[in-house]
Amino acid sequence: KTVAVTGASGYIASWLVKFLLEKGYTVKASVRDPSDPNKTQHLLELDGAKERLHLIKADLLEEGSFDALVDGCVGVFHTASPFFFETNNPQADLIDPALKGTLNVLASCAKTPSVKRVVLTSSAAAVAYNGKPLTPEVVVDETWWSSADFCRENQMWYVLSKTLAEEAAWKFAKEKGIDMVAINPALVIGPLLQPTLNTSSAAILDLINGAETFPNSIFAWINVQDVAYAHILAFENTSANGRYLTVDETVHYAEVVNILRELYPTLKLPEKCADDKPYAPTFNISSERAKSIGVEFTSLKQSIKETIESLKEKKLFK
Ligand code: NDP
Repeated sequence: KTVAVTGASGYIASWLVKFLLEKGYTVKASVRDPSDPNKTQHLLELDGAKERLHLIKADLLEEGSFDALVDGCVGVFHTASPFFFETNNPQADLIDPALKGTLNVLASCAKTPSVKRVVLTSSAAAVAYNGKPLTPEVVVDETWWSSADFCRENQMWYVLSKTLAEEAAWKFAKEKGIDMVAINPALVIGPLLQPTLNTSSAAILDLINGAETFPNSIFAWINVQDVAYAHILAFENTSANGRYLTVDETVHYAEVVNILRELYPTLKLPEKCADDKPYAPTFNISSERAKSIGVEFTSLKQSIKETIESLKEKKLFK
């Protein structure tokens, strides 16, 4: 069986490609620059890559760019989307590639009869941020949607990009009769396959790189291998439908620092919070739907350990 993965060189997608090859799939994988070894070498070295991995150049902003990628595929995993926070031009840097790119990929799928299901990598970012207070009694689930207005007011451009992209994807999929499932991961950590640092692994690296303080905020966390595998479960399980939040634990940065201290007592870690306000309250994110399709969750402690060991191995942290 042949499947397509967009943005294959990315952090999550690299694990997805690895697992798909291990499961015997033939994988057509899109990358922006097939000649850049930083983006392709780790993929070409995967078991099965020689026989069953095909790299194809495609860009989210080029119309029709994904036609050749999805041609002949039964499943399409659309993971490509810019993931960073700092930008002076959110429309061009984040929103256009996320939103137009998603519609571009789906348009290619809509005209390709071989495609039976699309798995969209959305985000918990598209779920949890709508101005409703996030407090310990709250359980965020897949019925929640982030609000574009709230994102704009608070200049949460990445969150906005993911929210607009997922909203538009559902609308388009419904109109065109595309069978789509969305995966909505929390902040993803765990081992890196690619040689370069990605945004979510940087959340851990920033804590161990001499920072004096840790942020006064709550994040939900998930292991990259669990997220990647969730995509495959969502594709293979014919009854899978709708959105799947994939979240292991939702904790304050203070707790992440505590775990780091326990695991690595000699590391220099931030001693205090970035502000003097009370700690932001924790809240809950449901992973019941994900568990119902067989997604399993690595503990946060194990994920943090795997992240640090991988950052060391890739020489991204000494
Ligand atoms: P990476 O930055 O590692 O991967 C992003 C991928 O998107 C890269 O392959 C990148 O290609 C590709 N991409 C970006 N812009 C374009 C473009 N214009 N045309 C083609 N490809 C493009 O991030 P992650 O693996 O972390 O993220 C993958 C997906 O998961 C994204 O959709 C992200 O929003 C989502 N996600 C990630 C979370 C996390 O914590 N990591 C949490 C929740 C959701 P190139 O390598 O050429 O830059």
